[in-house]
Amino acid sequence: MTSNPRSHRMTKQRRVILDVLRDTDSHPTADWLYEQVRRIVPRISLGTVYRNLRVLKEKGDIQELNYGSTYSRFDGKTENHYHFVCLECARIGDVLLPLSEDIDKKVTDSLGWQVDFHRLEFYGSCPDCTAKEKAQ
Ligand code: ZN
Ligand code: MN
Repeated sequence: MTSNPRSHRMTKQRRVILDVLRDTDSHPTADWLYEQVRRIVPRISLGTVYRNLRVLKEKGDIQELNYGSTYSRFDGKTENHYHFVCLECARIGDVLLPLSEDIDKKVTDSLGWQVDFHRLEFYGSCPDCTAKEKAQ
């Protein structure tokens, strides 16, 4: 077997990106991930981070969250779960509730289309922003 140092390096970088992402529940941007990964792999480029995020997403190792903002947020948790987006500070929290499965049946019953999964997002204020507002 021939060893390809370039692909080996890619694999290591991808591993680091995945580890950093799985280590946080902040649903970071690619830029934030780049800053963290650079501490471990100093010579990595932002382009490489983007490229590897795309590969990880295609492999189903991560989720890309897009809320219509200009940049995506990433999630190392791949099982379906709900999110809460703070409209004040853009923080994203995991909603630790079981998935509502009867909604899939209701949709299929009413529309006749077979549901594979659904996405659900909550919007409002995080505790920090609520406290700030009350203090004003
Ligand atoms: Zn907030
Ligand atoms: Mn999440």
